[in-house]
Amino acid sequence: LASRDFHPDDTIIDIKGVKIGGSNLVVMGGPCAVESPEQIDEIARLVKAAGGQVLRGGAFKPRTGPYSFQGIGVEGLEMMAEAGRKHGLLTITEVMTPEYVDICAQYADILQVGTRNMQNFDLLRKLGTIQTPVLLKRGFSATYDEFLNAAEYILAGGNPNVMLCERGIRTFESYTRNTLDLAAIPALQQLSHLPVISDPSHGTGRRELVEPMAKASVAAGANGLIIEMHTDPDNSMTGDGVQSLFPDQFANLLKDLEKLAPIV
Ligand code: PEP
Ligand code: MN
Repeated sequence: LASRDFHPDDTIIDIKGVKIGGSNLVVMGGPCAVESPEQIDEIARLVKAAGGQVLRGGAFKPRTGPYSFQGIGVEGLEMMAEAGRKHGLLTITEVMTPEYVDICAQYADILQVGTRNMQNFDLLRKLGTIQTPVLLKRGFSATYDEFLNAAEYILAGGNPNVMLCERGIRTFESYTRNTLDLAAIPALQQLSHLPVISDPSHGTGRRELVEPMAKASVAAGANGLIIEMHTDPDNSMTGDGVQSLFPDQFANLLKDLEKLAPIV
């Protein structure tokens, strides 16, 4: 079902009038984690002012270590939904377990499956039973075939609203957090009809590399970007402040992107 052979035309996912796929460019921005009502409200305002369409933020965080901040949970979902409503943005948040799919879908417009859960087949099967759009992140060691098979689990269950996200893979390079696989963008678009979103934040792990790799992703044909932005990155509650853009950098990037592709 994920294959172009089966479905020659690009899939376009329409979420409350925002169209993801085809020639549109969608920009999702926001913090790694929802931290407080004030934080998410202010960042939502800045995402909207810059021209973004989707507010990102994790309420449930898949942390590598068990003692790290794990997210603020359902309260965070409420704060983000409120900020999205107030500022006229769609919202995307990560869901980590099948039990939380329904509650996350009540609050968010798009559900994110993180890189560590790409092959959490129970979670994928559960996401196949609803119609809420899913952004599926590529596992950091997954081949394109494994990635598309993970998408297939959701599609096979009856949910056609799947987008693929290249977020960097693990290589021998340690200067960057991950290696953003730019070739994945056109390759996945040739193999599949699903929209492909690029995450240059996790794909590089370094703020100064986000802007060039965001532009490179759009030049490679990405249907959208998901970018971390924070008003106070040095004090963010996850370690991802180092890859988060400052608000003015985010706004300037979107201005430059408008020259490459209309953000609609
Ligand atoms: C995130 O988007 O904050 C995140 C944890 O992403 P990934 O699953 O790609 O590491
Ligand atoms: Mn993050």
